[in-house]
Amino acid sequence: MPGDTGYAALSEKLSLIMSAINLKSLSKKELESFVKEQGLPVFRTKQLLHWIYERYARSLHEITELSKDLQEKLSEKAYISNLELLNRQTSRDGTEKFLFGLEDGESIESVLIPDDERLTLCISSQVGCAMGCRFCLTGTMGLRRNLLPYEIADQIISANRLIHPPIPPLARGGKGGVTNIVFMGMGEPLANFDNVVKALWTITQMIKISRTRTTLSTSGLAPKIPELAAKAPLVNLAISLNATTDEVRDYIMPVNKTFPIKKLLDACRKYPLAARGKITFEYVMLKGVNDSDEDAYKLIKLLRGIPSKVNLIPFNPYEGSEFRRPEDGRVLEFQGILTKGHMTALIRKSKGQDILAACGQLKASKPVF
Ligand code: SF4
Repeated sequence: MPGDTGYAALSEKLSLIMSAINLKSLSKKELESFVKEQGLPVFRTKQLLHWIYERYARSLHEITELSKDLQEKLSEKAYISNLELLNRQTSRDGTEKFLFGLEDGESIESVLIPDDERLTLCISSQVGCAMGCRFCLTGTMGLRRNLLPYEIADQIISANRLIHPPIPPLARGGKGGVTNIVFMGMGEPLANFDNVVKALWTITQMIKISRTRTTLSTSGLAPKIPELAAKAPLVNLAISLNATTDEVRDYIMPVNKTFPIKKLLDACRKYPLAARGKITFEYVMLKGVNDSDEDAYKLIKLLRGIPSKVNLIPFNPYEGSEFRRPEDGRVLEFQGILTKGHMTALIRKSKGQDILAACGQLKASKPVF
């Protein structure tokens, strides 16, 4: 138990944090203004950006290019927030799941997936999710709150700091660390639209992950798709489709009642793609629900005219789920029909199943010590 002086010091520290500016919450322009207000030369902005987003400094005192005096002076006005690592689990296949604590005591999960020369980080955009997809464990949590832009981007900074680079070495002479980002963790990114757009600018411009290596996956908030194209850097788009009829999709993904398949695919048709760019359609295969030959033929018809590829994801069962995983043979037959229909269809290896890190299995489970 801290004594009186301990409490005084703690409350002084807390009030300082409450009044101080979190540098990670500032856009590049806002950081420029902050630097100017402190009477500092312009080059300090570049220095701060470099140390925060590329060298993952956890406090102003770690920025050794600032003199001790300047570190102290800036620390009176500002601080650098950090996610707190609460748990780290490693799967047999090398996938890692991080449980990060937020400043208000909530927690989120991010999953790091090594694959040949790529190191993909699957990040969360909300604490929980309101979309209620029936095959998804996150959906059972409900929505607790939206993540702030810096909490979204900080998952990458924190993961990079945790990795001892280079794992694996980058093919293209980079510095090691996360190479690809997918918004497929907890939450529906387009339901936290403004914060996700801001985070996308941070990710692509400040952390410097290419927009062509960044993928946003949505359950189908159709009207937000053109808005995303207009306001965010043009990232890859993935659609969690999972059904070929409105009847089935209404049941497994309630969002479909508001934005049915046709409306969703119309929005996809208008999404601007780079030359040879494709929209990814995720298709979680549920035994006896959406895995018939007829579904495969319908899928070909639905996606006609959309440059696309299909990721088939055999369902990852979890305790209490009403769905089952189709047999491997069924998945292969389904893929065969799509391939014969001239579609690119990949069976996604489910990574990290033994640590509940696979698609649809994230639930910010508290660590058991
Ligand atoms: S699949 Fe995605 S959108 Fe649906 S409940 Fe899970 S986290 Fe939310």
